[in-house]
Amino acid sequence: MLSYDYIKCNDLRTACQELEEGEQVYLLAGGTDLIVGMRGGKFSAKTLVDIKDVPELKVLEEDDQGITVGAAVTLNEAVVFAPIRDNVPILAEGCHSVGSYSIRNRATMAGNICNASPAADTAAPLYCLDALINIKSSEGSRSMPIKDFFTGPGKTALNKGELVQSILIPRPYPEGRGVYLKASRTGSVDLATVGVAVQRWGEKFKIAIGAVAATPVRAFSVEKAINEKGEKNYADAARLVHDDIAPITDLRGSREYRYHMVEVLVRRGLEQTMGV
Ligand SMILES: Cc1cc2nc3c(=O)[nH]c(=O)nc-3n(C[C@H](O)[C@H](O)[C@H](O)COP(=O)(O)OP(=O)(O)OC[C@H]3O[C@@H](n4cnc5c(N)ncnc54)[C@H](O)[C@@H]3O)c2cc1C
Repeated sequence: MLSYDYIKCNDLRTACQELEEGEQVYLLAGGTDLIVGMRGGKFSAKTLVDIKDVPELKVLEEDDQGITVGAAVTLNEAVVFAPIRDNVPILAEGCHSVGSYSIRNRATMAGNICNASPAADTAAPLYCLDALINIKSSEGSRSMPIKDFFTGPGKTALNKGELVQSILIPRPYPEGRGVYLKASRTGSVDLATVGVAVQRWGEKFKIAIGAVAATPVRAFSVEKAINEKGEKNYADAARLVHDDIAPITDLRGSREYRYHMVEVLVRRGLEQTMGV
């Protein structure tokens, strides 16, 4: 049986203090990664700090800067938030791809990126949108681009005592369609074998991919071929994605299968965003 102390936080200052002072302290948001990980021996927590009801983390709003998604906002709340649905639907698709309805009723976007799985479904859309991660500690606040946040499987750029307060989707929003395409072993609840986000920005594209390297990655070779060299053949462009990824074989798929599926999904993503 698991044994740990449980602290319910009602304000951000206390959450930061608990995180800073204790050893083996874990934040509990939706718990859909954390509790599973504790049961499986991946995390050994002495203390859980529950941040679900911290008012500062429940912010979900749009202002001049963009869309702010607080760390205690559930994925289901994000999916139906009109500014996300209307302005950055690729992110709504990424959120909606996570688990099942009941998982998304608890799971958060912050938990998804802090767990730092290379297969995290919100990560590739957030890369395409140049999201900023707002980080808080007792010492103060800082922000960093999502591209610097993931540092390895299960690893982030957070220092001890730091938590993610919110995620900002900055303006200007992309002009043009975006899609998130996920290949998984089953048609229902499963982590991505490969997850591909393709976002048009006018005549240019941003492409990000999950589950094919130690962290989510941008497909810079494909982007360069289309955005800078004017490649119009999407099948040829998609083939270049092999230079951007370093997939492994695991229980969800072989290295070779991932190379194949990424190429297919990048091509499909380009075609769909162009309405071909
Ligand atoms: C059945 C099932 C299916 C799933 N399917 C998918 C799927 O299809 N795609 C997918 O991407 N994921 C999937 N997941 C994983 C999980 O649901 C998501 O990663 C989810 O978004 C995690 O959010 P959470 O709020 O539950 O995080 P938690 O479990 O509460 O936290 C995850 C980790 O992040 C830390 N953390 C949480 N919030 C913060 C914060 N604000 N600052 C710093 N650290 C923080 C925690 O301490 C913990 O280490 C699935 C999980 C289950 C159980």
